[in-house]
Amino acid sequence: MNQALDDFLTKAGDSPVLVSACLLGLATRYDGDSKADADMVAHAASVRLIPVCPEQLGGLSTPRPKSSLSGGDGSKVLTASAKVKSESGKDVTENFLRGARVVAALAKITGARFAILKDKSPSCGVTKTNIDFQTADGPGVAAAVLKSLKIEIFVLP
Ligand code: SF4
Repeated sequence: MNQALDDFLTKAGDSPVLVSACLLGLATRYDGDSKADADMVAHAASVRLIPVCPEQLGGLSTPRPKSSLSGGDGSKVLTASAKVKSESGKDVTENFLRGARVVAALAKITGARFAILKDKSPSCGVTKTNIDFQTADGPGVAAAVLKSLKIEIFVLP
């Protein structure tokens, strides 16, 4: 049981909550796997969850080459002072930005003011992201957009 998660969801009440799709067991990760969180899955039937995968929403396939930020964290990508590159060196910055914008649009359409995101991701990471294919401090691209919109975020490992 994750008491902090329970408390966050109690605070959200009947409000919709955006959630990284992989945390619910959906196979959205770059390697075609999921990252199911048992506590999150247990809440799936009782909370108004909106599963989102910013990388898929940005037009990237699954599975897909692993990507990482280059030149800074997700907030730097928003100001065009950092990029996102796949492990083959392809620039996928526009895909990451597009996915983050779609998530922001979903927040607006649904009125969601809460999100639960998977840490250490170049998209969803909140306290940690991935820069130069290493775990690093800072948000991913989608998390940076949601933070800028003052969405309240709970982070799961
Ligand atoms: S982009 Fe986010 S939702 Fe999609 S697989 Fe990565 S961590 Fe999960």
